[in-house]
Amino acid sequence: MVKETNYYDILGVKPNCTNDELKKAYRKLALKYHPDKNPNEGDKFKLISQAYEVLSTPEKRQVYDEGGEQALKEGGVGHSGFTSPMDLFDMFFTGAGGFRGGRGRRERRGKNLVHPLAVTLEELYNGSVRKLQVEKNVICDKCEGRGGKKGATQSCNTCSGTGLVIEVQQFQPGVIHQLQRVCTDCGGEGEKINAKDRCPNCKGKKIVHEKKIIEVDVMKGMIDNQRIVFSGEGNQEPGLEAGDMIVVLEEKEHPVFTRKGNDLVIQMELELVEALCGFRKSIRTLDNRDLIVSAIPGEVIKHREAKYVLGEGMPLPKSPFDKGLLIILFLVKFPASLPPEVIPALEACLPPRQEIMIPDDAEEKELIEMDPQEEARKRGLDHRPEYAEDDMHGHGGGGRVQCTTQ
Ligand SMILES: [Zn+2]
Ligand SMILES: [Zn+2]
Repeated sequence: MVKETNYYDILGVKPNCTNDELKKAYRKLALKYHPDKNPNEGDKFKLISQAYEVLSTPEKRQVYDEGGEQALKEGGVGHSGFTSPMDLFDMFFTGAGGFRGGRGRRERRGKNLVHPLAVTLEELYNGSVRKLQVEKNVICDKCEGRGGKKGATQSCNTCSGTGLVIEVQQFQPGVIHQLQRVCTDCGGEGEKINAKDRCPNCKGKKIVHEKKIIEVDVMKGMIDNQRIVFSGEGNQEPGLEAGDMIVVLEEKEHPVFTRKGNDLVIQMELELVEALCGFRKSIRTLDNRDLIVSAIPGEVIKHREAKYVLGEGMPLPKSPFDKGLLIILFLVKFPASLPPEVIPALEACLPPRQEIMIPDDAEEKELIEMDPQEEARKRGLDHRPEYAEDDMHGHGGGGRVQCTTQ
């Protein structure tokens, strides 16, 4: 029985709730009452974070369960105020390093397990819960990590129970080397179990492999390489604190959108007529909405020109209600050639050519089309920035072109 339920009530959970239930409750309420979204509910936001901080820290939760808020105030666990609600929120939502209540003692621990998880841009945009099957070492529950029957373990004679043996080598007269190596008889354990007394479940190894499904919360705005830490879910070893399970997100490439920090970049091809005379085009967002973007007639879009739409980029990790920019990079397709008869009409629409002075003795030369790949091969160049295809057709077409007819 708990003394008070106030903190549980604030989060809307039962006093016997699990850590996961606490996290879910906190996430939902913290997002709802975050000052960015709900500026008049600052006090509520503070209460939520206090309640979560206490209940998610095992020592504090125990003190609270036994003695209520009064016991916390009296500092039963060296309690020294609360983390600021914003810091708590940041730690929780950025997920970097994962939020762990309290300052854990630095003890020797079992190995951390690292698990990559490929996620789509849609998942990072919308958030998702992924199930991941992981395999880890857990302490054998049949023998409780002893490896055999009670009293069956005997100290190793070879190493006197230290797990290490000293080897003395004499390379030349008078020079003696002492080498320390792991005892091969007991594999460094310092103890042995007779074959007949070994635990059949773990075959005396004290640990067994276990497959487990974990639920990974991919939160809105998370990034490539982000680490999500499952505290204590790593490998177990007898006598050691369990390691952590660390899930590392790997952002998959998206066929349409490229992510640049909090912004999304999309390439949009335009016909020359659209670039000069206006267009209306739609973009399907990562949450399946359709956006319409347009250029009004008279507005000219240049090749490789970029424009952006506010608030249609990725959700910001620290405040998922806000989003970055959607940047549109326009690629203008130029016609390969034009029928000669349209040239006079077209020329009449465009800003006039500049008159240039040609010296009398100038020589006439032929322009030959260049194949960028062929050129690169001939010159033995690996990269060919000067001849990049976009630029070949690109720059000439830009400039101040204004068509007066529709
Ligand atoms: Zn030994
Ligand atoms: Zn066992």
